[in-house]
Parts: sequence; structure tokens; C-alpha cells
Amino acid sequence: MQRIFVARNVTEAHIVSGMLNAAGIKAEVRGQYLAGGYGELPITVETMPSVWIGDPAQGPNARSLIAEYERPTVGKAAPWRCEQCGEVHAGQFTACWKCGRERRPG
Ligand SMILES: [Zn+2]
Repeated sequence: MQRIFVARNVTEAHIVSGMLNAAGIKAEVRGQYLAGGYGELPITVETMPSVWIGDPAQGPNARSLIAEYERPTVGKAAPWRCEQCGEVHAGQFTACWKCGRERRPG
């Protein structure tokens, strides 16, 4: 296993994990159960929700997908739903990661 991404919150970790799995990269979320419940626990890279991939050889591919996810796009932040398969995407994506369909303008 290799840690590929440290998320700001559990939701984001699951978005990234789902994105990688949909792209054929086996990924899982770790650290999510440490959030809450351990009030005194310092917030470090070790305790924050993170995404791990099973095959380190897929690291570069995973990083490029994550870079796409993190790229800020002004004015396009609203989530959208793929009209073909119904998958919901963060606003910065321009095409469906599940079926490849392009996002319709508007
Ligand atoms: Zn789709």
C-alpha cells in the first residue's frame, strides 16, 4: 500500500478514493475513524483521512487524477451529474471519470 493523498476531511478522502477506483486504481480510505472521538489527538498527516493505493506502480496515474481534482476552476465549482451514467462529479471535472462522457455546458 502507498499513501497517495492526504485529505482535508473524510468526504474529500472518499471522493478521491472513489475517483481512483472508478479509474481502475484500487484505492481505500484510511484514518477516517480517528477523526472525532479523540479530541486530544494532534492533527497530523498520520491522523488525517488519507487515500492509499494498492499498487505503487499506479502512483503517477493516480497523482495526475488527483492533480486534476485539485486544480481550481473559478466559477465552475458546483458539482454536476453525468447525464449518461448518473455519476456525480466535483465541479472542476470536464468529463465523466466513469463513462468518459463530456460535461454539457450549463
Ligand atoms: Zn458518466
